[in-house]
Amino acid sequence: MLEIKNLHVSVGEREILKGLTLSVKAGEVAAIMGPNGTGKSTLSYVIAGREGYEATTGDVRLNGENILELDPAERAAKGVFLAFQYPVEIPGVATMTFLKAALNAQRRARGEPELQTPEFMKRVKEAAASLGIAQDMLRRPLNAGFSGGEKKRMEILQMALLQPRLAILDETDSGLDIDALRVVADGVNALRSPERAFIVITHYQRLLEYIRPDSVHVMAQGRIMRSGGPELALELEERGYQDYIAQEAA
Ligand code: ADP
Ligand code: MG
Ligand code: MG
Repeated sequence: MLEIKNLHVSVGEREILKGLTLSVKAGEVAAIMGPNGTGKSTLSYVIAGREGYEATTGDVRLNGENILELDPAERAAKGVFLAFQYPVEIPGVATMTFLKAALNAQRRARGEPELQTPEFMKRVKEAAASLGIAQDMLRRPLNAGFSGGEKKRMEILQMALLQPRLAILDETDSGLDIDALRVVADGVNALRSPERAFIVITHYQRLLEYIRPDSVHVMAQGRIMRSGGPELALELEERGYQDYIAQEAA
């Protein structure tokens, strides 16, 4: 589903990604782990098409199509979803309004008719119920006064509505309590499907106790240094990233 080959990305003058290669199959949950500042978030921005994060060389293919030339909305229309690392608070905007705008933006970009309110309400209520989200949360302004766990619930709800092909979860490295972690994990596990791939970016292996990844990739110094199965996450937890940083220096 996702094929990244020899990807180089510079931000300003500095090269951040230095020949990154990674494949993720449909149906797979791939975990990317690595030390802080190694370019994990940069990778997620490049895939999503965020401004200022452009590839100098290399390929990012989604189902065979090079997506690097597409704008962020076109990528979203093709099913790329990037969960917010720091969910925004939008005080004036009701959660429902935001979700409807997000879904209809995706539909417009696909050339599909916008959903009218009754059909949208039906979908959002079904999705909320399946994720255990209380209806009254949907009427509150987006994220204002939401707890960490509630913000994550909204993010997962948004993901459930948009039904991405490739969902990238770039976790905050800290600040998620166990409840919020479980919300994310339960949501991902509920949305796992043979047509969908996940990239779960995490600094700690904690989250991976709840989301069992199919593959684990160690990222250091702007590249994928090693790939393996779930056991690799445990090894990293024990040994840290020293081996990969040393390898780079050598
Ligand atoms: P990670 O997510 O692995 O912690 P990041 O992708 O956030 O790493 O950052 C990788 C490096 O790129 C860091 O040194 C960071 O300071 C730098 N970087 C990322 N985005 C920008 C930016 N917009 N401007 C300047 N430097 C940036
Ligand atoms: Mg970071
Ligand atoms: Mg990051």
